[in-house]
Amino acid sequence: MLDKVDALIVGSGASGAAVAWSLADTRMRIVCLEQGDWVKPTDYPSNGRDWEARLFSDFAINPNRRARPTDYPINDANSPIKVVNFNGVGG
Ligand SMILES: Cc1cc2nc3c(=O)[nH]c(=O)nc-3n(C[C@H](O)[C@H](O)[C@H](O)COP(=O)(O)OP(=O)(O)OC[C@H]3O[C@@H](n4cnc5c(N)ncnc54)[C@H](O)[C@@H]3O)c2cc1C
Repeated sequence: MLDKVDALIVGSGASGAAVAWSLADTRMRIVCLEQGDWVKPTDYPSNGRDWEARLFSDFAINPNRRARPTDYPINDANSPIKVVNFNGVGG
């Protein structure tokens, strides 16, 4: 780990990863933090016959239902917008 960095990017989602990539050719010291895991394409639910069930468990779009160790609870009870996200490299 570097002691000092020029750019700290929190989250390697669509935006963070693109910024990290765009800065990769500079001489800047860059750290990109991601709270989620790497997800291998072979782990995608579409590769198994239980894919429909997994959309209601470990691959649910709602983090409260998904409840992975990398998720955090979101209270959207008073919001007209229902949260849909995934915490992982690539967003
Ligand atoms: C089911 C679904 C399907 C979609 N399909 C498409 C599509 O086909 N085409 C399209 O263009 N767009 C699609 N989108 C939209 C697209 O995914 C989002 O617009 C885009 O990911 C937003 O980018 P972002 O960088 O703002 O956020 P995100 O991609 O969500 O990235 C945020 C990242 O930050 C991380 N993070 C959060 N908190 C912390 C923390 N405290 N510390 C470290 N890391 C943290 C998260 O884990 C995540 O990786 C889809 C979205 C969903 C939910």
